[in-house]
Amino acid sequence: MQINQNFDNIAQSYLFSTVAKKQREFQAAHPEADVIKLSIGDVTRPLVPAVIDALHAAVEDQARQETFHGYGDEQGYSFLHEALAGYYRTHGVSLDTDEIFISDGAKSDLGNILDLFSADNTVLVPDPVYPVYVDTNVMAGRKVIFADANAGNGFLPLPDAGTACDIIYICSPNNPTGAAYDRAGLQAWVEYANAQHAVILYDAAYECFIEDTGLPRSIYEIEGAKTCAVEFCSFSKMAGFTGTRCGWTIVPKALADGKLNKMWLRRQTTKFNGVPYIVQKGAAACFTEAGMQQIRETLGYYKQNAKVLSETLDSLGIWYTGGKNSPYLWLKCPNSMDSWTFFDYLLEHAHVVGTPGAGFGKNGDGFFRLTAFGDQQRTVEAAERLKKLLG
Ligand code: PLP
Repeated sequence: MQINQNFDNIAQSYLFSTVAKKQREFQAAHPEADVIKLSIGDVTRPLVPAVIDALHAAVEDQARQETFHGYGDEQGYSFLHEALAGYYRTHGVSLDTDEIFISDGAKSDLGNILDLFSADNTVLVPDPVYPVYVDTNVMAGRKVIFADANAGNGFLPLPDAGTACDIIYICSPNNPTGAAYDRAGLQAWVEYANAQHAVILYDAAYECFIEDTGLPRSIYEIEGAKTCAVEFCSFSKMAGFTGTRCGWTIVPKALADGKLNKMWLRRQTTKFNGVPYIVQKGAAACFTEAGMQQIRETLGYYKQNAKVLSETLDSLGIWYTGGKNSPYLWLKCPNSMDSWTFFDYLLEHAHVVGTPGAGFGKNGDGFFRLTAFGDQQRTVEAAERLKKLLG
């Protein structure tokens, strides 16, 4: 037996464990301190009533002979395909239901899709980045090159025609930077990918936070995207499914003459046995009128937090991206502090925890991520402390 030596090449990420350790140590040394966490990337609000009702009803289905469901199609139930096709139509995108594949979340599919591509491909990833894109490729032995995202380009790098690559990752609205591409930016990437015969792996996990009508919610709103892009999305942030698990992937039939769509179906039917019937029923309830209304209210709760934090940074004159169209705010650390120095400073003097940008790539150093996924009152309190400390 020979093990996959590529695992030796994955950079160890100490980001979240170091954040947790520093917080634990601070709390132990200062038991009286009331520490507020603005570092969480997970949702905190419960599932909405429409989803809960659908989950309960689906549990009852499983209790009766006439409505019991065993194995379903690996690519998901048609009721959820149709609900998703309807959702895409609301932002002007027409999809065939056999282009939609239901999964247990975007993270799994982002990793699994790589089964379809040769190990010889060169992968272009923005820096800073959601670490999954890099690590999954390093595990498979692929060469990874980086596109610099920085304050100069608003953390939205554009393609460089002189750079050759085969697989391109784009996440918009972005984790960690909260920055979101406009149509012209995505159009540039689509044209570049089509010209190179490259594929874009487009992560739309935060599309539900987009408010500006000028910003695309799906890459298929861009002309030419169906011949170059696979889109990943999720019920995690949209409807609080981080612990319930459901997402979807779009593999258009126009991509590589339908080959990738067929290969993905083959891959899924071979290695995956589908998302639970009960979970898919809960997911489909998001697209009912009541479900959509309730989800909007929950998203509105987080958006209010993002607004409070944005207004705070505006009042302090601190440069940042995100906060609008995203639950993340990505700020430039004041007084040219590096990310970890600012982390310590904020913890010590304001008892607020955030995420050091350095943990997301070399271009993240000097930047810091705050999230809007917390409690509203606590977020307001954290904002007051930031104003006091940095004002
Ligand atoms: N993509 C991005 C950019 C994320 O930030 C996350 C989770 O934080 C995911 C994907 C994972 O989504 P899921 O819960 O559907 O696996």
